Amino acid sequence: MTGSLSQALQRIEASPTTAMTDRAQALREAGKDIISLSVGEPDFATPPHILEAAKAALDAGATKYTPVAGTSALRSAAARHFHRDLGVECSPEHVIVSAGGKQALFEALVATVSEGDEVIVPAPWWVSYPQIVRFAGGKAVKLVTHAEHGFRFSPAEFEALITPRTNWLLLNSPGNPTGAVYPAEMLEGIGEVLRRHPGVMVLSDDIYAPLNYTGQDHVSLAALCPDLAHRICTISGVSKSHAMTGFRIGFATGPEWLIKAMIKLQSNSSGNPAAVSQAAALAALDGPQDFLSDWCETFRARRDLVVAGLNAIPGLSTPVPDGAFYCFIDASPLMDRFGGDDTKLCLHLLEHGVAVVAASAFGGKNGFRISFATDEATLTEAISRIAAALA
Ligand code: PMP
Ligand code: GLU
Repeated sequence: MTGSLSQALQRIEASPTTAMTDRAQALREAGKDIISLSVGEPDFATPPHILEAAKAALDAGATKYTPVAGTSALRSAAARHFHRDLGVECSPEHVIVSAGGKQALFEALVATVSEGDEVIVPAPWWVSYPQIVRFAGGKAVKLVTHAEHGFRFSPAEFEALITPRTNWLLLNSPGNPTGAVYPAEMLEGIGEVLRRHPGVMVLSDDIYAPLNYTGQDHVSLAALCPDLAHRICTISGVSKSHAMTGFRIGFATGPEWLIKAMIKLQSNSSGNPAAVSQAAALAALDGPQDFLSDWCETFRARRDLVVAGLNAIPGLSTPVPDGAFYCFIDASPLMDRFGGDDTKLCLHLLEHGVAVVAASAFGGKNGFRISFATDEATLTEAISRIAAALA
């Protein structure tokens, strides 16, 4: 082979969530009957007013470059969204629009993490967080959380991991893959720790904010602790909230120096996010938001269905997730059958027609994650397949 891979690339693996989803898709194309619960993607159709806006934008010539950080209309709308939906104050110049929340996260970390830097990541974590940290040359420091504590950590557990090399804490509430929601008291405690450690920044990934089943309002760290806002980068987007995963639009806001650095990186990589997608996202943010609470109710009903169904299967247990659309399932009593390897367990479930992702892919163990962002009939069928596979 000619050519070789960079050291940075050799430090990472392909995203296991997308890998499993691609695999499920390939099996389907080969004629196999596979239910994919592997990817976190709402099954709802993108609302018609958003599609209409995209079509109108194409007809009006939204087929060209825009400013790298996004159109001024969308940056302003995103600033209003940060204020209205997350309580985070910002001006449009402190917003960057990226190709999904994933690109915004990638840019924030790659722009700031140097060789040897440490990023504290609560685990189970979303697959891409540690990968991006490693790509940047940093070390993902695992902050282990447990089901019996609702996958939340204490401020003291966080503080114990801080070293002079720590430059970020990653927060994701509501969280993927556990559905954990961090209450205000916990975030207050984190804020206290941060005040003692001025070198630590926080990436607050709030992409699942509208999907909160606690009955309490979403709390975002930068809103709760405005005195720390200059050290917080808040990530949001329309992928999950507005069923727009394929449009690839996400937003970040944070201190000016960081947003400028992210724009610099974006200007030399993807350039601006797709013009037509930006027009669609503008319609999403400025249009009606009332359907979000109906969707949230639908997700809550699905959650209750899968939690009851999964917990009725001998050997499986899952806590009730407070937000997002995932269940993180423990299968410890069954692991001997799979040689202690939860990837083997997932391959076994795939043979029985259900695609899920191993807990180990998320920095957990002995289990798997499902997404319940699909209809109840499909979820019911998936649960009976899982029960049959594990009987
Ligand atoms: N953060 C979390 C926690 C996620 O689960 C996802 C879903 N892929 C993202 C960010 C990125 O979302 P997207 O790039 O599709 O906007
Ligand atoms: N965030 C989703 C998931 O965890 C989408 C896939 C991905 O981007 O990794 O399934």
